[in-house]
Amino acid sequence: MAEAAAGAASGKVVIRNVGLLLSGDIDRPILDADTLVVRDGRIAAVGRASDCDVTDPDLVVDARGTTLAPGLIDSHVHPVFGDWTPRQGQLGWIDSTLHGGVTTMISAGEVHLPGRPKDIVGLKALAITAQRAFDNFRPGGVKVLAGAPVIEKGMTEDDFADLAKAGVKLLGEVGLGSVKGGTEAKAMVAWARKHGIQSTIHTGGPSIPGSGLIDKDVVLEADADVIGHINGGHTALPEKHVCELCERSARAIEIVHNGNERIAVAAAKAAIELKCPHRVILGTDGPAGSGVQPLGILRMIAFLAGVAGVPAELVFCFATGNTARMRNLDCGLIEVGRAADFVFMDRAQHSAGRTLLDSVGLGDLPGVGMVMIDGVVRCGRSRNTPPATEIPVVVSAGH
Ligand SMILES: [Zn+2]
Repeated sequence: MAEAAAGAASGKVVIRNVGLLLSGDIDRPILDADTLVVRDGRIAAVGRASDCDVTDPDLVVDARGTTLAPGLIDSHVHPVFGDWTPRQGQLGWIDSTLHGGVTTMISAGEVHLPGRPKDIVGLKALAITAQRAFDNFRPGGVKVLAGAPVIEKGMTEDDFADLAKAGVKLLGEVGLGSVKGGTEAKAMVAWARKHGIQSTIHTGGPSIPGSGLIDKDVVLEADADVIGHINGGHTALPEKHVCELCERSARAIEIVHNGNERIAVAAAKAAIELKCPHRVILGTDGPAGSGVQPLGILRMIAFLAGVAGVPAELVFCFATGNTARMRNLDCGLIEVGRAADFVFMDRAQHSAGRTLLDSVGLGDLPGVGMVMIDGVVRCGRSRNTPPATEIPVVVSAGH
C-alpha cells in the first residue's frame, strides 16, 4: 500500500448520500449538505444533491448515510524516513495510522534518527533530506510534512534563510536541542518566522532521557507558533501554569495523546472558558516512549468529548480545520478549493451511542469505513477501528 507520492486523482468524483457532513470549521461544524463533488483532487462543490452538478462522473461513492469529515491531521509526530520508526522498531506505522482516519501528519522533528547529527551543517542536511524524502514518498498516500530541524546553539539568521530557501517550512521542537533558554530561543523562533518557517516548542519535563525541562516562562518568552504538547509528555507542567499559557499566549494550544491526560482535560476546558477553542489542535507525539498509536487522534477526539465534555462536533474541528488554519494547510476543511482529503465514519457496531456524535460523546471510537486523499480512495473499512455500522461503497467507476 505504500506508494510514491501520487498526485491528485484526475477527473470527477461524486460522493452522495452523506448522512452527516462535518466541516472542520469550529464556527460552523455541521453543514447542511449531503453531496460533494471533487474535481482533480479538490473539492469543487458541496451541497444538496439537487444543487450540485453530478453528471458525468469518473467515480461515484455512495456514503450510505455515514458521516464524512475532513481527513484528520496529526499535528505532532516524529517520523524518520519511509514507513519505519527506529524508536519502536516498527514498520508500517504511517499506513496503519491512515486506517485511523489520518491523512496528514506534521513532523515535530526527525529526532529518532539513529546517530542524528547535531552540528549545524548536519542538522540542516537532515532536515532538507527528510523534507525531500516525504515529499517524494507518501506511505499509504498520507501527506507527511517533514524536515523539521532541531535548533542548536550557534545557528545564525543565515542558517534559517538557507533552510527556507531549500524548502524547509517547520522547526522541530524547540528545547530538544541545546537551545533551552528563553532569550536564545526567542531570537531563533523570530528568524524562523521571518523566513516563513513555523515553530513548535516542547512544553514540560523531559519526555525521554536526553530531553529537558521547558517551563512556562521559556514557552512565553520564546513565543513559538505552537505550544507543543501543552499537556506535556509523561509529566506535565502544573495545571495553573498550563492555564496561564492558554491565557497569556495567543499561539496554538496543542494537546497530545502521549501527554498527561488530566492536564489535557484542563487545557481543553481552559480554551473553552477563554473562548478560544479555535486555538486547540491535536497530535499524538508518536512514536515515542508510549509507542505508536494508529488510532491516537481518534482516541484524543473520543477522550476530549467523553471526558472533558467538549461537544464531539467541535473536537473533530480540533483535529482538522483548526490545525489547517493554524498551520496554513490546504486541507482540513470542507470548502470549495480545498484538497479532497476525507474520512468516512459511522457509529461503531454495538456502541451505546445512537448516532456517530452521540457515540463519540460517550467516549467510544467511531468505525472508519473509508479514507480518501486528494480524491483517491486509500482504504475501505479500517483494519484498526471497531467495525462501522454502515460503510460507503464505490458504486460506479464511471467511464
Ligand atoms: Zn516534546
